[in-house]
Amino acid sequence: MAWMSSGRTNAELIDKMVNNGLITSTRVAEAMRNVDRKNYVPDKSYAYEDSPQRIGYGATISAPHMHAHACENLLPLLPADSPKPGAILDVGSGSGYLTAVFHHLSPQSLIIGIDHLQPLVDQSLTNLKQDGIKVGKQSDGSGVIIFCGDGRKGSKENGPFSVIHVGAAAPTLPEALVEQLDKPGRMFIPVGEFSQDIWQIDKDVNGEVTKKKLFGVRYVPLTDPHKQWREDL
Ligand code: SAH
Repeated sequence: MAWMSSGRTNAELIDKMVNNGLITSTRVAEAMRNVDRKNYVPDKSYAYEDSPQRIGYGATISAPHMHAHACENLLPLLPADSPKPGAILDVGSGSGYLTAVFHHLSPQSLIIGIDHLQPLVDQSLTNLKQDGIKVGKQSDGSGVIIFCGDGRKGSKENGPFSVIHVGAAAPTLPEALVEQLDKPGRMFIPVGEFSQDIWQIDKDVNGEVTKKKLFGVRYVPLTDPHKQWREDL
């Protein structure tokens, strides 16, 4: 059903995903309406297609319906009326698109994006600014930060995280990320090499961790920078 959701405008893309049942939450629809996908893709003519698109350096921006699935799955951990919303980690932030959606879903939270290639980090910061998002930590502790680093290690100094999204497939579940989940916290992560599945990892208020396999997917691997992209090729 995914391909049926392509639109001519960002609003049409979101409306079609709502009508096709790919987005069921009004909060997710609103947040995605606030992020114009054309600011995050190199080829503007495919901006509102419901398909992944290459963004350079061996990376892709995921299809809009995958972004929607991730947001809907993580939404219970981002309550709208929370007085003190938790921090959010977006590993393999790539284009910065989902980092921006998280910002609109939980504007009071600190959102940390990590990508391991500096040109992608630079590109995502440009994308966010183009989309009207003020980058940097604000005086009240909220804001959006994207830095270059190994996402498998997370960002201990900014944790624990109520929500961790991983945008690249890990061969095995990275323990450091499980450790950095808050109590409660939820991680949405593709795991596997040849065959990959989305796993939902929950940590409850007592620190107990449960793992649930959701559905099969195809993501770029969570790997080392030189395995993903070589400047001389
Ligand atoms: N959610 C992003 C997905 C980008 S593709 C989007 O929709 O735009 C996956 C990203 O993971 C790529 O940008 C890639 O550079 C990054 N990545 C792969 N391995 C990584 C690692 N070990 N640490 C951090 N980022 C990594």
